[in-house]
Amino acid sequence: MLDKIVIANRGEIALRILRACRELGIKTVAVHSTADRDLKHVLLADESVCIGPPASAESYLNMPAIISAAEVTDAVAIHPGYGFLAENADFAERVESSGFIFIGPRPETIRLMGDKVSAKRVMQKAGVPTVPGSEGALPDNPKQVLVAARHIGYPVIIKAAGGGGGRGMRVVHSEAALMAAITTTKAEAKAAFGNDTVYMEKFLERPRHVEFQVLADGMGNAVHLGERDCSMQRRHQKVIEEAPAPGITEKQRRTMGERVAKACADLGYRGAGTFEFLYQDGQFYFIEMNTRVQVEHPVTEMVTGIDIVKWQLMIAAGKPFTLKQKDIHMHGHAFECRINAEDPRKFTPSPGLIKRWHAPGGPGIRVDAHAYTGYTVPPNYDSLIGKIIAYGDDRASALARMRTALLEIVVEGINSNVPLHQNLFNDSAFIAGGTNIHYLEKKLGL
Ligand code: ADP
Repeated sequence: MLDKIVIANRGEIALRILRACRELGIKTVAVHSTADRDLKHVLLADESVCIGPPASAESYLNMPAIISAAEVTDAVAIHPGYGFLAENADFAERVESSGFIFIGPRPETIRLMGDKVSAKRVMQKAGVPTVPGSEGALPDNPKQVLVAARHIGYPVIIKAAGGGGGRGMRVVHSEAALMAAITTTKAEAKAAFGNDTVYMEKFLERPRHVEFQVLADGMGNAVHLGERDCSMQRRHQKVIEEAPAPGITEKQRRTMGERVAKACADLGYRGAGTFEFLYQDGQFYFIEMNTRVQVEHPVTEMVTGIDIVKWQLMIAAGKPFTLKQKDIHMHGHAFECRINAEDPRKFTPSPGLIKRWHAPGGPGIRVDAHAYTGYTVPPNYDSLIGKIIAYGDDRASALARMRTALLEIVVEGINSNVPLHQNLFNDSAFIAGGTNIHYLEKKLGL
C-alpha cells in the first residue's frame, strides 16, 4: 500500500480522503492555507503543512508549494480531490516528474478529456453518443459558422473547449444574435481559461443530467458503477443528486455502461471518472468527462457498496483490480443534498462562525461534512460545508429518510440552504422523479 500521501484539497472531500486513508493504513499530510488551520481534516491528519495565504491562487493552486510539502514530509503520492488542481494536466505531469504518484489518470488523459472538443471526438470514435453540433472547434469564417448553426437548428449553445464549472457557455436563439454571442464567449473563455476555442451544440430544451461512474486500472480493465441523476441544478451547479436515475431501465444502464467502460478500457484510463450525459426523449448525449472523484460519488457508493475513494488509492498503489462487472449490482436508492453556507433564497454566500451544528443520523443516513460547532466558514472558497446522503431499499424510503434528516439537521450562526432542500423534498414533481435541468430555476422564478 501507499505509505503516506498528501491531500491537496480542503473541506469535506479532504476529510473523505483522510477517512479512506485511515481505513487502508495510509498516513496523511494535510496541506492548507492560513485560512484553513481549523479544518477538520487538518486537525485529524498525521501531519499538516501550511502552503500559503487564503487566496487559492497562492495556496491550493500553488503547485510548487504542494510538491514541496510532499518532499519535506516524505509522502509518496498526491490526491487532488475535486476542483483546484484535480483536472490540471500540467500539475499531474509535475507531480509525476517530481517522483510522486498522482492519484488520478495519466496527464495525457486529463489533457485529452479536459479539452471538450477532443473529448467529444474520442467519444464519437468509441461509439458513445454525443450532442449534435459543430465538427470540432468553430471556424473563424462567419459564413461557415452561420451555415453550421442552420444545419444544427436553433437554439444552439456556444461552449468553451476549456470550460468548466458551468462557465463559458451561451445559448443563442436566433441567427441575429449568433456572431455577437460567439465573440463574447470567446473573450470570456480567453480570460477565464486561457483558451478561446469554442464549439457549438444543439441546445437541448428539457434534458436531464445523467452521468455514469467508472473505475479503471490503467491497464485496460474498466467497470462502470451505474448512473446518477443530477438534474436538480441552479446556474449549472448541482444541488441534489440521486442514484439510480429515475426511469432508466436495466437495459439502458447495461448498454451505456458497457460503452463507457469500453471507452475507458480502450483509452487505458486510470482511476475514477465520470461520463456526463444529457438525457432527453430516451436518448443519451455525451457532454463531458470528469477525470476525478466527484462531489456526488457517495450516492453511487451507497447503491453499489463500492468505496470509490478507496479504489482510487488502491489503483494508484498498483493493487490488483479485482472488480468484475458481473459482480456489480445496484441495490436500493440514494439521495445526496449539498449543504451550502448561503442564503436559501438569494444564494448569496454566508461565511462566518457556525454557532451550532448538529448532524442528522439514523438508518441509512451518511454525513460527509467538515462543518462542526465553533467552525468558522472562511469567505475565500466554495460554500459547500457538507453533504447529507440518505439510502433506502427503494426511492420512497430514501426520500422519507432524507426528509427526516433535513428536519434533524441544525446549522446556526450562518445561513444555509437547508430550507431549500426541505422545500424540494416536499415538491410533488421532484418526488415523482425525472424533472429536467431547468426545473429548479423555473420553480425559483429565475
Ligand atoms: P461544465 O464543464 O462547465 O460543467 P458541461 O458541458 O458539463 O460544462 O455543461 C454543464 C451544464 O450546462 C449541463 O449540465 C447542462 O445543464 C448545460 N448544458 C451543456 N450543454 C448543453 C446543451 N447542448 N443543451 C442544453 N444544456 C446544456
